[in-house]
Amino acid sequence: MRSPRIEINITKIEENARILVNRLAPKGITVTGVTKAVLGYPLIAEAMLKAGTESLCDSRMVNIKTLRDGGITSPISLIRSPMLSEADYVVQYAKISFNTEISVIRKLSIAAQRHNCIHGILLMLELGDLREGILPDDIEGILIETLKLPNILFRGIGTNLACRSGVTPNSENMGRLSNIADSIEKYFKLNVEIVSGGNSANLEWALSGRDTGRINNLRLGESILLGREPLHSQPIDGLSQDAFTLFGEVIESKTKPSHPSGEIGETSFGLVATASDRGLIRQSIVALGHQDTDPTGIIALSSKLPILGSSSDHIILDDIENSLSTGSEVSFNPNYSALIRSMASPFVTKIFKN
Ligand SMILES: *Cc1c(COP(=O)(O)O)cnc(C)c1O
Repeated sequence: MRSPRIEINITKIEENARILVNRLAPKGITVTGVTKAVLGYPLIAEAMLKAGTESLCDSRMVNIKTLRDGGITSPISLIRSPMLSEADYVVQYAKISFNTEISVIRKLSIAAQRHNCIHGILLMLELGDLREGILPDDIEGILIETLKLPNILFRGIGTNLACRSGVTPNSENMGRLSNIADSIEKYFKLNVEIVSGGNSANLEWALSGRDTGRINNLRLGESILLGREPLHSQPIDGLSQDAFTLFGEVIESKTKPSHPSGEIGETSFGLVATASDRGLIRQSIVALGHQDTDPTGIIALSSKLPILGSSSDHIILDDIENSLSTGSEVSFNPNYSALIRSMASPFVTKIFKN
């Protein structure tokens, strides 16, 4: 088997998605599967769709193109604000895009006229996390402009919390989104079809038993793929946390001092805390590094192999039980940061299981 590689258990991803879909359905909340962490691999997208996610979304047009080329015909939304320069591409491959800038919506309208299609617009609101979003006071003005544009169909509103500042979805900010949906319907006499409350960080709030108001959709990536909620990085009850396993091969295994010798400066990755002196230890080097994954975001499945350090293409392990030799394989569980980097790395072979 080739190393490094990431093994992807499609069945576990499908089961995770199905459980989340079923838990949210009684609240009237549909799930849109987010494929950006896995570069839009059609096999993973199909697993999400089989599990009952009602649509898919991605932040990058390249991944959406991968989904379409892979035969996925379900609705796909672009969840990162489109670049002005890609408007033509967006209307051809995405049914809906998430928007915050009227200049972009105007360009999408021109592109949709050119391609003779109708493009759906979801307007994103800024509710505290300070990433993308229209300030609530400005939504009326942008909506007035949007409704005038040919080949553009207003589909709904949404927000994204937690990703930049860790702002937690709660009754207050979600209540605000619901209220905005109600006011739009009242003042514009139209139906706000989609009210997309957020990402995996919204699950705790959505499943807490509190009133979920007008929220009828969540966009879930990390929770489906890794079975964890991002706010406290806790496993979600009943879901698998091991759908992805990263493998690397040992290229050196030697007894060495635990403490470096010589004058200490910065490394290519900044300052590193100098290890304490524990005398001689057995250290093993795995052929994996920052170009393959996030070395701070992986844990060896064996608890006897803590990571001591890393560089572009080396990860150094403390081989506590002297269990490794050159040629041994070591398996790791990735967190979200390690997962996205491994999936995007050309050096890591992707192996689909089941
Ligand atoms: C990445 C992203 C998501 C999915 O986030 P997860 O934490 O992986 O569930 C949802 N919405 C937007 C706008 C995103 O950028």
